[in-house]
Amino acid sequence: MNLLEIQNLKVHFPVRQRWFGGARECVRAVDDVSFSIAPGETVGLVGESGCGKTTLGRAAIRLIEPTSGRIVFEGEDIAAMNSKELRARRRRFQMIFQDPFGSLDPRRTVSDTIGEALDIHRLVPDATARRRRIDALLQDVGLDPSHATRLPHEFSGGQRQRIGIARALAVEPKLIVCDEAVSALDVSVQAQIINLLQDLQRGHGIAYLFVAHDLAVVRHISHRILVMYLGRIVESGPAREICRAPRHPYTRALLSAVPVVDPDSKRQRILLAGDVPSPIHPPTGCPFHPRCPVAEARCRSEVPPLRDLAPGLRAACHLAK
Ligand code: SF4
Repeated sequence: MNLLEIQNLKVHFPVRQRWFGGARECVRAVDDVSFSIAPGETVGLVGESGCGKTTLGRAAIRLIEPTSGRIVFEGEDIAAMNSKELRARRRRFQMIFQDPFGSLDPRRTVSDTIGEALDIHRLVPDATARRRRIDALLQDVGLDPSHATRLPHEFSGGQRQRIGIARALAVEPKLIVCDEAVSALDVSVQAQIINLLQDLQRGHGIAYLFVAHDLAVVRHISHRILVMYLGRIVESGPAREICRAPRHPYTRALLSAVPVVDPDSKRQRILLAGDVPSPIHPPTGCPFHPRCPVAEARCRSEVPPLRDLAPGLRAACHLAK
C-alpha cells in the first residue's frame, strides 16, 4: 500500500473580481495533480520558481488547504478531516524548510526546540527520558549533545538545518516534505545534508517528498522524479530513466542546465525564453508551448494529456515517445 496517495489535487487561490460582475479570477497553483509515495521512498518534485511545487508540497500535508481532491495518507483521506482529526495525525508527516534560521525561534535553545515537539505529542514520560531522547536525536543528525543549550545563532547554516531535521525526526514521522531544504547551503554542505537524509531514511524507513528547483540535487536523492510546470505534472518516472532520457522538452531543458563532469560530453544547454507564464491566464493548448523549442501548430490548441510511455514513466507532450 502507498504511504501517500494524492488524487486530482487542486489548489486555486482567488485573486480578484473583474469589474462589472465578471468571473472571479484565480491562480491555479496546483491543477489536477495525482501521484503517490511508497513507504521509505524519495520522490523528487522539480520545476522552476513559480511552477507550484512549494504549494503542492505544503498542500500534500495540508499546511495549505486544497481546493479539491483527495490526500490519502496511510489509507485515510486527510483532506476530508476536521482540524481535531488532522492534529491527531500531524506527527506522521513533517516538513523541513529552506531557511532553517527562519524556521527556528532565535530565543529558544536547541533543547527547547526539539523538546517542544516531544511535549506536544506527549512522547516522553519524564524529564530524564526527554533529555535522553534529545541527546539521541542530536547524535542521529550529527550534532554534539553538549550543544543542546545553545541558541540557533551559534550554529552554521548546515548545523541549523540539522536541528530542523532533528525537530522533524523527534515525532517519528513516516513522511517528511523537504522544501528546498538544501538550496540555501554551500555545495559541500548540501552533500552532507543529503547523505544525512539518506542515512536517516535507511535507519527509520522515512519517505521524503523532496521539493527543489535544482535537478542536479533532486536526481541524487530521489528514487522517482515529478517534473512540474504551471501547476501540473508534465513528466514523472524513475529518477535514473528521467535523467538518462527525458521525454518532455521542459525536462530536457532543466537537465541541460545541470553541470556535467565528462569534458567530452556533447550535451548542449537549452535556454528557455522568458519566465513561467502567469497561472491566472495560462496559455491555451500545451501550457509550455510559448517556450517550447519544438512546438507544433496543434500545441497551441490541444492540451497534451499525461500519457503512459513505459512502465512507471509518463509525460504530457504530443511528441513524447
Ligand atoms: Fe512542446 Fe508541444 Fe510537447 Fe508542449 S506538447 S511540450 S509545446 S512539443
